[in-house]
Amino acid sequence: MLKELIDKFYLDNQENKQQLHFYISDAGKCPRSIFFKLKQAPQEKADPRILRIYEHGEQLHRHLYNVLYRLKIGMTTEIPIPPQEIVSGRADAILCLNGENYVLDIKSMNSMIFRSLTAPKIENVYQVQLYMHFFEIKKAILLYIDKDRQDIKEFVIDYDSNLVQTLLNGFQNLKGKLENNLVPPVLSDYPGGWQCNYCQFKEVCRLAGRDPLDWNRLKEKIIAENK
Ligand code: SF4
Repeated sequence: MLKELIDKFYLDNQENKQQLHFYISDAGKCPRSIFFKLKQAPQEKADPRILRIYEHGEQLHRHLYNVLYRLKIGMTTEIPIPPQEIVSGRADAILCLNGENYVLDIKSMNSMIFRSLTAPKIENVYQVQLYMHFFEIKKAILLYIDKDRQDIKEFVIDYDSNLVQTLLNGFQNLKGKLENNLVPPVLSDYPGGWQCNYCQFKEVCRLAGRDPLDWNRLKEKIIAENK
């Protein structure tokens, strides 16, 4: 009854804004799914439950900013990286602790994932490495919050120029594929990996097959499939 109405609200209000460039949050994501997003391939609607989880995460972020402001820590929030050609993004915050600047990135998760976290998630490390690079800051803090129990873990990350170069090369490589209409191959753990489980491009990906292929050929297959 009410649940269906609420879910429908989330389904009906999804904006599929056209993405025109890479985001820092794309670092570590499946290159094929980023390719599909930038090419505006047909995608499934996002699960309303997942959208509610994102919303809740944003509320937690705002609550924490408020606490940090009240602690009178020198801090600026939601700062876009300086404009450049390959990628855009917005860091949660930059703050100053004991005379040293840090990029701050906040992530929230359920208790089960939180409890098993003994090191920062690699995709989160990729993101803060890129933020550090573009802001020319040498340290970052990844702050993880347990949404169910409100517990907190933090990890301090040092800037790694080699890793940043690898990530930027990955974006350049994918940019080349986009320009040449070459769909990247599937992930090595396809189709059982976690990214595939949550992927909104599962159907197009299945149609494409596992190997690289020409985007125009895939578009023909998509049209034929939908006739
Ligand atoms: S289903 Fe998996 S391999 Fe295919 S686009 Fe999605 S994440 Fe990538």
